[in-house]
Amino acid sequence: MALERTFSIIKPDATRRNLTGKVNALLEAGGLRIVAQKRILLSRAQAETFYGVHKERPFFNDLVKFMTSGPIVAQVLEGENAVARNREIMGATNPANAAEGTIRKTFAESIEANSAHGSDSAENAAIEIAFFFSGLEIVG
Ligand code: ATP
Ligand code: MG
Repeated sequence: MALERTFSIIKPDATRRNLTGKVNALLEAGGLRIVAQKRILLSRAQAETFYGVHKERPFFNDLVKFMTSGPIVAQVLEGENAVARNREIMGATNPANAAEGTIRKTFAESIEANSAHGSDSAENAAIEIAFFFSGLEIVG
């Protein structure tokens, strides 16, 4: 498979505990290259738009509150099969179900405060990358 890009977020629970470097080390050890990265504080409107697919879910308001509770690190990752590879490196949404050595098993505090986001398809990766980055900010 050709090189692919995916979108990633290091979530506020991880930035709060100063884990950006440790999360990045797992991404890089897993074969992904960080080709864009910035630390930002999401507004409520931005978080609602980003997680809009979940707006009918009971956890939506709490999720938006959590995602705006501190800085996030938004990233573009590049590598072979990057979308699926990043989901493997992150592990299951609920850290209790995540495999050993994954970001969520190693660092997540809860199903909500689960340290990382990764796009779930190439199509959503393109939408999410364009939401956070201009082409000039991505250097492969
Ligand atoms: P992400 O989209 O952040 O990569 P995911 O694709 O593994 O995670 P989703 O089902 O898309 O999981 O849920 C988005 C986020 O919403 C989760 O990562 C988590 O932070 C939060 N979340 C999901 N399910 C629950 C739940 N049952 N209770 C609280 N928060 C939840
Ligand atoms: Mg998701």
